[in-house]
Amino acid sequence: METAKIPSKPLPQATPWSAPFWEAAKRGELKVQRCLDCGKPFFYPRIACPHCFSEDLEWVKLSGRGKIYSFSVVFNYAPSAFADDVPYVVAIVELEEGLRMLTNIVTDKPESLRCEMPVQVIFEPAGEDFVLPKFRPVDEA
Ligand SMILES: [Zn+2]
Repeated sequence: METAKIPSKPLPQATPWSAPFWEAAKRGELKVQRCLDCGKPFFYPRIACPHCFSEDLEWVKLSGRGKIYSFSVVFNYAPSAFADDVPYVVAIVELEEGLRMLTNIVTDKPESLRCEMPVQVIFEPAGEDFVLPKFRPVDEA
């Protein structure tokens, strides 16, 4: 009997409008788009502002500081490319600039996580072409 092949982890697919995000991550910078008309930053990358639909956008560097808005600890996700990572944490981080980002929290103590906990961005390579912004609790830095 053949063993089922476990797929490898999916990688991001850069688009022309998300490429600056991925290029910044490779340099260890967290960048998002900001609307030049209404002034609001937003994530994920888009071709127009989700608040006022302006296409007049710029890229801005964020501090990388935020707090956990919500999270889930994944203990069982079998069988998948992520099985070796269990337990891992999927979270929404609220950045101090006011926008939220779906991401991972990197920690050895997932049981200690709480909403509102301060976190700081870190950068983890994914394959040869991408670096993923993730977050770590400030008190574990
Ligand atoms: Zn706008």
